[in-house]
Amino acid sequence: MAKSYSELSPSIRTLMGPGPSSAHPRVLRAMTTPLVGYLDPDFFKVMEEVKELLRYVLQTTNELTIPVSGTGSAGMETCISNLVETDDEVLVCVNGYFGERMCEIVERYGGKVRRIETPWGKVTEPTLIDEALKSSRAKVVALVHAETSTGARQPLEEIGKIAHKNGALLLVDAVTSLGGHPVKADEWGIDACYSGSQKCLSCPPGISPVSFSKRAVEAVDSRKTKIGNWYLDMSLVAKYWSDEHTYHHTPPTSMIYALREALRLVQEEGLEARFKRHELNHRALVAGLDAMGIKMFVEEGSRLWSLNAACVPEGVDDARVRGRLLNEFNIEIGGGFGALKGKVWRIGLMGYSSSKNNVLMFLGALENVLTSEGYSLKPGAGVGAANSTYNE
Ligand SMILES: *Cc1c(COP(=O)(O)O)cnc(C)c1O
Repeated sequence: MAKSYSELSPSIRTLMGPGPSSAHPRVLRAMTTPLVGYLDPDFFKVMEEVKELLRYVLQTTNELTIPVSGTGSAGMETCISNLVETDDEVLVCVNGYFGERMCEIVERYGGKVRRIETPWGKVTEPTLIDEALKSSRAKVVALVHAETSTGARQPLEEIGKIAHKNGALLLVDAVTSLGGHPVKADEWGIDACYSGSQKCLSCPPGISPVSFSKRAVEAVDSRKTKIGNWYLDMSLVAKYWSDEHTYHHTPPTSMIYALREALRLVQEEGLEARFKRHELNHRALVAGLDAMGIKMFVEEGSRLWSLNAACVPEGVDDARVRGRLLNEFNIEIGGGFGALKGKVWRIGLMGYSSSKNNVLMFLGALENVLTSEGYSLKPGAGVGAANSTYNE
């Protein structure tokens, strides 16, 4: 018999890694909405709804709030390429892999990177940013809100004020936080913010929300040179997303339907309820891991709810355990990279994937694998501790 390949091949996985997370079934269904042209009046209504919902999720009134075509890195490249001209100084806070990527992109657009280095897993001290800005002419301060490579959450409350009083713009990567943690673009004084669809918004990968403040729009308008990236040129893309609807490039229609549905789901749940859900599932997971003798990589108080970095216990084979979780339980978690390779497991609890079911199933599966690998632990300890958290 010939092997048949249906839509069920590949296997149905539970995505609990660093992203993509499992897409919500309603989002997947929305993607089969019939296509219309990019100048169809019905599509304009979809676009208006997406902009409106994005402002709600980003807690902003920024006029220029749109999804750009491409994954989170396209959002990163949009913010950097629009704001940075040759020889512009950019202060980048680096405490993980995605801070590094920002430096790389700034350099490619001719910007001068000034780095503030913080060890992986820790967060940048605002005073260091203040000091660095006093002795520089930085146009932009860039940092990552949710460092997916380490599981650390960067507090942002004070940083906008520090940047602005020193005449700099604040650029924030909210790829792994938006839809799982509060991102208060206006209150925190964020000037340019980008996210991605496949983390806490539970969409497939392929589209990324971007929002520019008035200050950021003015900075783009007062550039001396053309934006170095035609595809991501916000002045052109914004014209299509404005009432002018001037053609720039064909928008990824089905991804925009998907994003609209994902944002509607956020609105239906409500931001506060959604953040509480992410926090509770994170706490239950941490309690479960702790009861199994597994430590968290990031100290309490700086931990993300959406991405949990747990230290691989001494003597346990990281890749083997992840392989068994995938093959025997269809659960995907992430390993560490760079200096953390083989040292941490990155367990995502993002959007639709942040559920009681997933936490309890994962802890049970991990116990099954670890005990059969000879790691000794009290039976049921992880699931029991997680249940105690849920039943508090
Ligand atoms: C995933 C991620 C990105 C990159 O997004 P892609 O969708 O992989 O292009 C950027 N920043 C952070 C913090 C991320 O987690």
